Amino acid sequence: MNTLPPAFVERIKKQLGAEAKAFFQALETPAPVSIRRNPGKATDCNELEITEGKTTPVPWCPDAVYLEGRPVFTLDPLFHGGAYYVQEASSMFLHHVLKQLLPPTPVRMLDLCAAPGGKSTLAASLLPPGSLLVSNEVIRSRAAILKENLIKWGQDNTVVTQSDPAAFRALEGAFDFLLVDAPCSGEGMFRKDPASIREWSESNLRLCSERQQRILADSWACLRPGGVLIYSTCTYNPAENERIIEWLIAGGEAESIPLFCPFPGIMPADSAACAFRFYPHKTAGEGFFLAALRKTAGKDYTPRKNKKAKNAPHTALPKELRAYIRQPEQYAVFPDNGILRLVPESQAAFIETLSASTNVLYAGCEAAETNGRKLRLLPPLALWQGLDAPHDGIYDADRPTALAFLKKEDIPPIPSSADWLLVSYHGIGLGWCKNLGNRLNNYYPKEWRIRMQIE
Ligand code: SAM
Repeated sequence: MNTLPPAFVERIKKQLGAEAKAFFQALETPAPVSIRRNPGKATDCNELEITEGKTTPVPWCPDAVYLEGRPVFTLDPLFHGGAYYVQEASSMFLHHVLKQLLPPTPVRMLDLCAAPGGKSTLAASLLPPGSLLVSNEVIRSRAAILKENLIKWGQDNTVVTQSDPAAFRALEGAFDFLLVDAPCSGEGMFRKDPASIREWSESNLRLCSERQQRILADSWACLRPGGVLIYSTCTYNPAENERIIEWLIAGGEAESIPLFCPFPGIMPADSAACAFRFYPHKTAGEGFFLAALRKTAGKDYTPRKNKKAKNAPHTALPKELRAYIRQPEQYAVFPDNGILRLVPESQAAFIETLSASTNVLYAGCEAAETNGRKLRLLPPLALWQGLDAPHDGIYDADRPTALAFLKKEDIPPIPSSADWLLVSYHGIGLGWCKNLGNRLNNYYPKEWRIRMQIE
């Protein structure tokens, strides 16, 4: 590992006292590798091929395991099918926290700093039925990765936006939960990502803390009174952690939420407020900080008829597409330049309002494209959890064929009368081929294809 900045070493020695030595030793050991299954697609982590060998459960997230070593995920078709997400284990503590805080009734959640999508995919799977998750990422290139990961996760309850946090002020009181996994100095990633060591400086610590305050101040209005803020970082710097939540509480509009944590090794933070710290010498994972606060003031959301909202006409589902959808009556269809976007009927009005003040990149499932009477099925439908593929339209590929499909190469035809074939691997949909009888047209998106050489 690169040499640690001396000022960081000195501060950690003060923070951890006698434990500092064990902390620095842990930074010299390999970072653990962990995956979290998609409960909407994979039944059990240990049934995933990638977990062949020994796995160990992640104590605070029942959907996740540690792997022995780091496999080449790119060469696992199920990784591309969104059957699991590769995520650093400490940050999966969000599972334990949401399980304590989520009500059984539908909620609206905003994940404000969401790319590449670790917390969003975790939260999307836990939300009560009828809920909506808005996953926002301000940086355009990162928002594209977020969108891809959420499409592969395959839920219908997510919207991807690419907006500055201040854009959400217009949605006063609209969210029951606000997740701010803030951009930070990244000290907790020193072991996994040596670039974060090079970027570390005391002036950057100050900039990070100021930016975190700005992000929270800009988005605070969109949380309803009584709503929950979950604030997290991957740094050990108290000025970006404890001091930030204390600053919020001192503002008089937030109170700490006491959380139950039965896991040895997860440390209480250095604050009167309830918060948790993860250190690599205490738990298997990287550095992480998390706190939950309840908003005690503010205004409730009043849905307004917004003149700027595109009053998109809802169209009926074409019969040919209806056959592919498990519960077609639950969806509103928004046509957008020929693309048929399915969103849960119960969320349609809010998504329209959202699109008036934020840049909505994606919502629900972009299922198909129409051109006159012709219907072209789109990749998100193949990955969607609401898909009901006809039996004679499934191409159950073996591993070499699935990998060839994911490289966007030609794959051999199979006997089938279906127009569209869902290429799947171990029951998990990957994408579509158009069946031309004697050959198949591979419709896997060019930008998602595997570029790696396969032996
Ligand atoms: N929550 C993500 C996950 O679990 O995969 C990781 C989020 S990462 C810690 C912080 C994110 O905040 C980055 O994607 C970064 O691009 C974004 N970000 C950077 N500057 C920002 C700003 N000024 N406002 C909001 N988000 C910002």
